[in-house]
Amino acid sequence: MAATLVSRCMKPVDQFSAAQTLDSLSEPWTQALDEAWLSWQHGNFGIGAVLFDPHTKVVTGRGRNAIGGDPSSELRLRGNWMAHAEMNLFASMSAFNARGLHLYTTLEPCLMCAATAIFLDVEEIKFGANDEYFHDLDSLWKHHPYTASRQPSSTKALSGKLSSFCRLLPLSFTFEWRPGTTMVEEAIRHRPVLAKLAESGVATTLRNVGLGEALDELWPELPDDEVHESG
Ligand SMILES: [Zn+2]
Repeated sequence: MAATLVSRCMKPVDQFSAAQTLDSLSEPWTQALDEAWLSWQHGNFGIGAVLFDPHTKVVTGRGRNAIGGDPSSELRLRGNWMAHAEMNLFASMSAFNARGLHLYTTLEPCLMCAATAIFLDVEEIKFGANDEYFHDLDSLWKHHPYTASRQPSSTKALSGKLSSFCRLLPLSFTFEWRPGTTMVEEAIRHRPVLAKLAESGVATTLRNVGLGEALDELWPELPDDEVHESG
């Protein structure tokens, strides 16, 4: 399998500043990025997710990665390896399904979160950056009638430097806490420029500032989407 990790139909957005790019985001992306930054500030992977109702145009739930813990008692999952952004979001739902809702998440969902999205009947998944480690799970779901019949469309919806930023936070966490793992090796192979930036630890030095200031600081260093192939 040689799936292209580069998103298609990318708009040339990077002539804009970090602030202009943040200002141009739709509400679900604004809230997902806010959650990602909160996750990062609390020492976690830096991944955020929201559920969005495309009919009412309302964000119906928010979640963030909190595997290392989080001071907010509102999060259902904290301090364990199930505390992914999407799982926290799903755990906060009042209904037993997400039929008709769209999942916005800053990083391509992992095996656990993608499977749960299918189980809950999420209609569409939009993610901010590819996760080279869990890329193209769609090819897996086609092999079982249950998952094949409920599989949501899944699209990389951010581009350029902002997409790289979405990948930088979890990659920085991985470099710091799980060095030498397959995840790190995959990142270095597919995203050499971003991997170097993650390894530098620069994102960690910005934990105490706001999202806008951090993004402004990182903007000149962030690469555009890097061209790479899996397999
Ligand atoms: Zn996950």
